[in-house]
Amino acid sequence: MKGRYQHWGMRSALGLLLAWGMPAVCGWSSPMPPARPLRVVTTIAPLYSFVRSIAGETVELSNLLPPNAEPHDYVLSPGDARRLADADLIIRNGLGLEGFLEGVLAQIDRSKLLDASVGIVPLPEWTPPGSSSARGRAGGAPPNPHVWLDPLNAMTEVETIAREICRRDPEKAREHRARAERLLALLRRIDDRYRSSLEPLPDKKMVSDHQAFAYLAARYGIRVIAFLDARGHAGLSPRLLAWAMAAIVRERVPVLFSEVNQVSSELASLSRDIGIPILPLDSMESGALRSDLYERVAEGNRQALVRAFQGHAATQP
Ligand SMILES: [Zn+2]
Repeated sequence: MKGRYQHWGMRSALGLLLAWGMPAVCGWSSPMPPARPLRVVTTIAPLYSFVRSIAGETVELSNLLPPNAEPHDYVLSPGDARRLADADLIIRNGLGLEGFLEGVLAQIDRSKLLDASVGIVPLPEWTPPGSSSARGRAGGAPPNPHVWLDPLNAMTEVETIAREICRRDPEKAREHRARAERLLALLRRIDDRYRSSLEPLPDKKMVSDHQAFAYLAARYGIRVIAFLDARGHAGLSPRLLAWAMAAIVRERVPVLFSEVNQVSSELASLSRDIGIPILPLDSMESGALRSDLYERVAEGNRQALVRAFQGHAATQP
């Protein structure tokens, strides 16, 4: 069986190479094509959006988190466990985002589990300057898992996902690859737009209650003042909040950024006390399940950032 399997894989890969000369598209050994559509389960909405864009309607695709659910405190349902068991391919972000999978990993066939973030160097979680939480931990702060917010990282995730879908569905690999190329070109244009609209704006600073936006800050020259993010933590200490308040005033931070529809009480208090507005950004992790989620949300985020920093530039002496 193994010999036949490998023989088929070689012939298939050679056929693909001869037909369209794209050696990097699909693997050299491909599993037997399934008789039914590939069953793919993603964990969060941006990954769903990538798979839908790459595979169109040719796969049976479902997402574990329903719209408006948050990965940081999600709990698997019995229906989720069934979907995971029935899936041919499970695509998660990785880097610790999907803590809700930990309890079932022992029962999952690891060969069908793909980490979309593989190959991306993550940022560490933000910790306040001089804080002991990072110093005391072996290896430093844990990784910030929200890599997809940076469009260039999103391109790496799309490459990883496209390669795996091609490998598992070689008969339709050519169409998957063509759609993946269109998505990669779109992500490149999104990065260009961010860059051309944000780079000319001076003195960009970020305070937010969701660490997800650290990836936008790092890519587009926005200086992080503080992430007051209680997700996955025991809460924010009064000392940290006092430090953040002083830093926001000292640095003349013009706006605070919050996850859309999830303003934390701490950020709301700071906004009231200091008298600066809160603008929503969207991490997509609780987003709608649609193929164009990424481009729609990325554009909304870009406009919010430009509005925040343009307004600030106009009020500077
Ligand atoms: Zn998050």
